[in-house]
Amino acid sequence: MSSRFTALPLPSGEAFLLETDYKGQDFVVLVDSGRRYAGTNPLVTAIHDAAPHIDRIDVAICTHQDADHANGFRTFADQWCGNGNTIGEFWLPGRWAVGFPSVLTNPIGLVTQIREGAESAENRRLVGEDRERLGRDQSGHEKTDTLAPLSKVTDAFREYAVPDWYEDISREDRLATSLGVSADQLSELRAEIEETDSYHDDVFRVAEVSFRSLLRSWLFDEPYERIEVSVRALQALDVAKSISSIARAALRWSIPIRWFDFGLFESTEKPSGGIAGFLKPICSVELSRPPVNPSSDVVFLALALSRQNVESLVFYRVENSREPGVLFLGDSRLSFGLASPKKDFEMPAVSPVRQIIATAAHHGSQVNDHAYEVINQWASGSPLYIRNGGEHNQTLHEFHRQAFRRCAVCRECAGRRTSRRVVVGSVGNEWSWPPLDGAPCPRTN
Ligand SMILES: [Zn+2]
Ligand SMILES: [Zn+2]
Repeated sequence: MSSRFTALPLPSGEAFLLETDYKGQDFVVLVDSGRRYAGTNPLVTAIHDAAPHIDRIDVAICTHQDADHANGFRTFADQWCGNGNTIGEFWLPGRWAVGFPSVLTNPIGLVTQIREGAESAENRRLVGEDRERLGRDQSGHEKTDTLAPLSKVTDAFREYAVPDWYEDISREDRLATSLGVSADQLSELRAEIEETDSYHDDVFRVAEVSFRSLLRSWLFDEPYERIEVSVRALQALDVAKSISSIARAALRWSIPIRWFDFGLFESTEKPSGGIAGFLKPICSVELSRPPVNPSSDVVFLALALSRQNVESLVFYRVENSREPGVLFLGDSRLSFGLASPKKDFEMPAVSPVRQIIATAAHHGSQVNDHAYEVINQWASGSPLYIRNGGEHNQTLHEFHRQAFRRCAVCRECAGRRTSRRVVVGSVGNEWSWPPLDGAPCPRTN
């Protein structure tokens, strides 16, 4: 068959669709979801418009927690599956697994853990225990991150790393395992989901009001430093809201989740899991299941995700003799970032021999220019860079220097705001670079 890659234009945020072939069958990968909007989910519409023949997404990947990548997933699955379509699996950031199964079985318990974890982080911070040394910045000041002891989270995850995903168990068992519940619990939860749906929403709504009023009281009455922790607590709660929606959709539509953890990769430097020879993680370790009974500290630290862009998951659709390769970068720089900024991720030992598509990291932002160096060293020939979800006033630097590039959403292309679908099909086993529709930013080639 042939492959087709589509950058889906959304009102805000980023999403990509890859239609390809796995073992002789059509296989559809969705990467990221754009932002959340009330009403009809724009991603559902964008997929229907771009690929009306598709009724199944085999793997829906969320690269990281940023709202412009993750929040569209809050309503996507319910609307997409509600229209009679299916999703095979969710592939999600491993840190989110700490919220399971409590996000389904005991949402108040989860909210309480976030709050307790925040309070204990605050107490540790006040005595200076949480300051992880991160070296010095350009002016010689010591850089610290008060919430950096994420090694606690990594340690809690360590025993759940699996080198290879178990393929032999039934879909229903995979669903239960991925949610962290027993088969009996799964049927109970499923039986009551319609009644508990609004209760779950209420828990998070009430928690948000209470976290916000706590933040307000701290703003006026407490030392300035407390604000950071309370803001992180609100962030953690926001992540919990995403998880709650995705968890309920997974339950409602029977979509097993696979967890990919950056922290374990950071400590082992060996990615694992995914689909062998087909869809490979570059900077994560697949977990066998959510960690059992994580502490409040671990729940809070994992969900507050203080280093989210660094942790963005990267996946490679491996090039083979029949289909060309694709590298999905999310917001990654392809290096270890804060912990060890000069160290690059090791790219797969077998590098592609034909042109690949690579999504422009972090919407082409110059902050992530390093990714081009890593890719251009690894891949032969100049990759086709596709950019989506551009922000206002973004500085694009190296992106403009790439020989082959297209923007789906851009404020510079053709001298005006452009929003268009970018579609690249394959001919034989190679990507076929489409003729230009309007001028690319800022020079033509
Ligand atoms: Zn982003
Ligand atoms: Zn552009």
